[in-house]
Amino acid sequence: MQIPGHIDPVTTGTVPLRGGNRVDLVGLTREGIRAALEEAGLDAKAAKLRSKQIWHWIYHRGVTEFDAMTDIAKAMRPWLTERFIVGRPTVVTAQVSTDGTRKWLLAAADGQEYEMVFIPDADRGTLCVSSQVGCTLNCRFCHTGTMRLVRNLTAGEIVGQVLLARDALGEWPKGTMASSADIDDEDDDAGHYTADGRMLTNIVMMGMGEPLYNFDEVKGALKIVMDGDGLALSKRRITLSTSGVVPMMARAGEEIGVNLAVSLHAVNKEIRDEIVPLNRKYGIEELLAACAAYPGANNARRITFEYVMLKDKNDSDADARELVRLIKQYKLPAKVNLIPFNPWPGAIYECSSPERVRAFSNIIFESGISAPIRTPRGRDIMAACGQLKSAATKPSRAELDRIAEEKQAALG
Ligand code: SAH
Ligand code: SF4
Repeated sequence: MQIPGHIDPVTTGTVPLRGGNRVDLVGLTREGIRAALEEAGLDAKAAKLRSKQIWHWIYHRGVTEFDAMTDIAKAMRPWLTERFIVGRPTVVTAQVSTDGTRKWLLAAADGQEYEMVFIPDADRGTLCVSSQVGCTLNCRFCHTGTMRLVRNLTAGEIVGQVLLARDALGEWPKGTMASSADIDDEDDDAGHYTADGRMLTNIVMMGMGEPLYNFDEVKGALKIVMDGDGLALSKRRITLSTSGVVPMMARAGEEIGVNLAVSLHAVNKEIRDEIVPLNRKYGIEELLAACAAYPGANNARRITFEYVMLKDKNDSDADARELVRLIKQYKLPAKVNLIPFNPWPGAIYECSSPERVRAFSNIIFESGISAPIRTPRGRDIMAACGQLKSAATKPSRAELDRIAEEKQAALG
């Protein structure tokens, strides 16, 4: 779990394997599964065939037991069970909001905890996925930023959130599978497989953590999520949100290719330095230039600028006009997402009034740029944007300042 590039420090530990010495196949590439099978003793041809079958069972059917993989010879299934697992994160708590939003607190094999949120809407269902336990950054309005403990999640732990959501939503295809690889099927029950309608249609990398500080694992996980023979989510239905890790943005566009959201939140150096301290390292101009160069952004696939509405901090008419000016100056195919600030215990900011948010939105709309106001979801279970934190406590102001200083020092 090396952090790529010349960028900033993230503490990571080694993740002990779930299932003892057995290898968790979730998160491996197809090639990785093939190599693992070969290493365990299968010959090249068998490893290739079995990896294809296993991939399909894991990602298309949501199966976690080798015994249920009916096109794999019965005699081979215990052999697989002895050596491998198809893991899931442990669910510590699962909550449902009055508005239908669901939040899960999950534990990794080493006990580290992270959260995932599902937001159902009339026309879509969005899973908000975490990329790290905590966050090394400390945006001053964000609950996750007050967490000290941090490690990167592995690709398996990231994709595991999607698998678990589909388990919980009960939306793996029903019936049994007819596979062209069915050459030694001993269970003669193939043939009535149906793919039914889905609740989980979109993914946002907007849970805990900064996804571009965990580039390789996030990329690995999203490649699996986008793979046509499996979860098969289109890159157009996936959005990665960054607080502005400029050196990784071009690679995100080229190598992952999903939609980009940028947590802008302020239009001048003074305020952005304060509320998104990463700005002291990668400033607004540099960030917007990287947005202008983002591969794949065009009028049909706009970059989303997230803007949290903080009372008397970043919410004036002048701020709205400056935001429009910047977007036009950099000729960005952009939309703005206005996020009413979601409070958490100990937060030092307040949300702008609804009238202020509306006025801010109107100024941007009048310039021809879309600026919807996001309806907060799941606030009653602390599942809304920026409320995630695996152990909710109310730190003192002095503690918050200390954490902020430590993280700032680590940024260099
Ligand atoms: N770390 C990434 C993605 C996770 S946060 C990032 O910062 O972009 C998802 C969005 O919620 C970000 O735009 C973030 O700035 C915003 N956010 C954080 N705390 C918030 C809060 N308390 N209220 C509203 N939005 C918040
Ligand atoms: Fe980290 Fe994003 Fe929260 Fe900032 S807003 S502290 S980058 S999770």
